Amino acid sequence: MKLYKAKCSQCGRMMRRKTRSELLSALRKHLWKDHRNWMVARIKAGKRNAEQNNPSIQDVVQAIQKGSTRAAHAVAGQMTEGRYQQVKQVMDAVQPLLPLKAALAWEGVEAVHDIVKRKKGGNTRK
Ligand SMILES: [Zn+2]
Repeated sequence: MKLYKAKCSQCGRMMRRKTRSELLSALRKHLWKDHRNWMVARIKAGKRNAEQNNPSIQDVVQAIQKGSTRAAHAVAGQMTEGRYQQVKQVMDAVQPLLPLKAALAWEGVEAVHDIVKRKKGGNTRK
């Protein structure tokens, strides 16, 4: 039986799951549990440039396409909420077609976005 595999970019731990979505959520949980400080540091680094550098959808998709977790996180930290919602629409639509590496990078972006929201106090209603 084929297993989906991913390697944690931080500690090199290999994860194997039967389905792609199980793998993505396992990796997300692992990143938050074992590398929380790193996740937060990446967000802060991105936020420092946020005002002048709201990345375009193309920037985001390119970082994700490269499957570079580091690039995707940096880009995620710089996105405004409006831009994130635009990108999310695109990514949700194409996610099943993406190579696994790219899907994992997007998963990282979403994870970063989630904590940014939580830090703002969780009141996200308009
Ligand atoms: Zn790890």
